[in-house]
Order: sequence, then structure tokens, then C-alpha cells
Amino acid sequence: MNARVELPRFASIEKIIERLKPVEPVYVLHPGRFQAAAKRFLDSFPGDTLYAVKANPAPQVLDQVWSAGIRHFDTASLPEIELVRARFPDSICHFMAPVRSVGAAKAAFERFGVTDYVVDCDYELDKLLGEVKTPEKLRIFVRIATPLGGALLELSSKFGTTPEDAARLLKRVAEAGAAPCITFHVGSQCLSPFSYAQAVEMARRTAKLAGIEIAALDMGGGFPGPYPGNDVPPYHWYFDTIKEALATFGPSHPPVLCEPGRALIAEGLSLITQVILRKDDSLYLNDGVYGSFDELTLPGWTAGYHHKVYSLDARNRVLPLGGAEKPLRVYGPTCDTLDVLPRPLMLPGEIAAGDFIVFQDMGAYSVAIRTAFNGFYPDNWAVVGN
Ligand SMILES: *Cc1c(COP(=O)(O)O)cnc(C)c1O
Repeated sequence: MNARVELPRFASIEKIIERLKPVEPVYVLHPGRFQAAAKRFLDSFPGDTLYAVKANPAPQVLDQVWSAGIRHFDTASLPEIELVRARFPDSICHFMAPVRSVGAAKAAFERFGVTDYVVDCDYELDKLLGEVKTPEKLRIFVRIATPLGGALLELSSKFGTTPEDAARLLKRVAEAGAAPCITFHVGSQCLSPFSYAQAVEMARRTAKLAGIEIAALDMGGGFPGPYPGNDVPPYHWYFDTIKEALATFGPSHPPVLCEPGRALIAEGLSLITQVILRKDDSLYLNDGVYGSFDELTLPGWTAGYHHKVYSLDARNRVLPLGGAEKPLRVYGPTCDTLDVLPRPLMLPGEIAAGDFIVFQDMGAYSVAIRTAFNGFYPDNWAVVGN
């Protein structure tokens, strides 16, 4: 399980299509893009960057994230901790889910030395303090809910509490002898850097309300992927805005963390799919919403993926297919009527069975959410470049 996954390497996506003519979907890793994404955070975020494993837990992807220099992991379950620590014994896991199965915190602490936990209510705090008997070794992050802001997917209706309640919980954490900390998540695919500033300000006021100097501030994830259909601000705006917000703590701010999932891995993966059938203006692809495309179906999701179409010519050469485009309905391979991309795709009018559609920036919440429904489970991998 620890072994590096050996994968076929190619010079380009065109070469993969030419050599393999893949009739099943292929996930293509771009190591340089994983490196660039990690570097943005490692160079400019003013604290520890944790990779949120749920965004893509494939070993092939974890290896890329590790090679890119990420050493901290936001793990939300015991199996995620086991996965990460078996692969990278020197990694540091942080248990950042506010709801944990009975015994999970005890096992994480005793077996893996995990010392960071999140709570947003008394029940989970009591459970945590009941399972770990040495609270002085813990950092306990109280999660505050943040207002609806610039994110496509909000994450504050399920988790997080009010500043008043959080202040009360922070006092309880401090009284128990653990280090009191605050966390939030502004929502996923957050297109507004200002959402982070607003949440940092809420955290600062919450700490003040509690009369407590917090030991750390965790800014969650939410940093966006560069999808068409979304206006993604330059990344440095996020980091600049966060640094300006932290300056309001005075001459020194608490140690900070962030937990990007999507932003560390979205760009690192492309997906090669093949057209199985064309019927009039309907295409049937070998991947669909039960495979890699679940995220497109989320309510309020306005993003898509950049795509390119390739054909094989009579001499088996791979050529980009151009020509006038038209909107085509794209179905997945399963027998379920719901297995259809929610919006038509603009595709070359000439596209036909046997052609390939390559989707870019497919790393986030694709592999992680795929199912084996109807026997279709995309799991072929290749590498392009170094
Ligand atoms: C999902 C999640 C993340 C990662 O979110 P992204 O939007 O992918 O960056 C980070 N932290 C927590 C607690 C999460 O639930």
C-alpha cells in the first residue's frame, strides 16, 4: 500500500490517445500543475497549508500533493487518517470534521498522535474530552458559521455556530485545559477574497467576546479552481486580503492554517473520455454524473470544465477536431435517465462516435465521488510531463 503507484508516462495527451485509443476514461496527471498549485500556498499563505483529503483521496493524487511539498493533511475520518499515515508516515494529520463517530477521536489520538480537533457544540466537545483524557495536548478549534458570501457552495448551514455560542465554547475549551482555537469554512469555490476577510474579522470578534487569546486560526478551504463560467480573481488577492485582515489582530496574529482541497488538485488532472454514440444532437460518453461529473449537478453550480475534442484520422493520427460548434446534450454511459450533464456542451458539429473529449482541471470532487453504478468505474491513470 505504501509503494509509489507506477503509472504509464506520455509526452502529451495526444500521445495517450494515439497509443491507447482508450475506450474507458483515463485520468491524466500533470505533475507540474500540482507543483505550481502547492507553491502558490507554500510561498504566500502566512501559515500551514493542509490538503483537504476529501477533495481527491486517490493515492496517485496524494503522491503528487506530497511531492509538491505539502506535509499537513485535513482528514475528516479515521479511514482518511489511516490512508494518509500509511502512505506518508511523517505526515501530520488534523481531524477537522466537527462531527466524529464514537471512538474516532480516541483512535486518532492514541494510534496516530492527532492533536487538532474541531467542535461546534457541547455534545461533540464533551465526547472529545471524554475520549482524550489529556486535553492539555489538544488544540480544539471551535467552528463559526460564516455569512453567505462569494462561494458557489455554502458550508455553514450544516456546521458552525454563532459568535456568542462559539465564545462560550471557547471558554469551555480553555477551562478544560486545551488550547482554544477558531476555524471557519467560507464555502467551496469561493470567488470573493473578501469572504475570508469578513470571516477573519468574525473570528477576531468572537475571541474578544470570549476574552480569550486564541492559539490558532484555521481558515478552512474554499479557494477556487479556474473553471470557465466563473470569474476567478488572481490568487494573490486571496493571500493579500487574508494578510490585511490578520493585521487587525495587532502587532502579532495567532498562528494560522488553511485547508484547501480543490485549489491544490483541480488543475493537476485532465480526463480523457470517448464518445460511444451520437444520435442527432445527443452524445453518449463513457463517463457521466455517476462517474467524474457529479459536481456539475450541484444546485447553484455555474462552473464547467474547459474541453477539447480529438479525432483519429484514417492513418490513426490524433488531430484536434475544429469547425463550427453547436450545443449538444451529453449523456453518461449508465442506463439511468438522470445520467446526463445538466447543461449542453458546445462541441464541434462534426463530432462522432469514436472521438475523444478531453476535460481539463478535473481534479476536485470527481475521482472522490465516482461510483461503480451499472459497472462503470473510471480508474485508468496516466502521467503527462514531469
Ligand atoms: C471540504 C472541506 C475543505 C476543502 O474545501 P475546498 O472547497 O475543496 O477547498 C476544507 N475543510 C473542511 C472542513 C471541509 O469540509
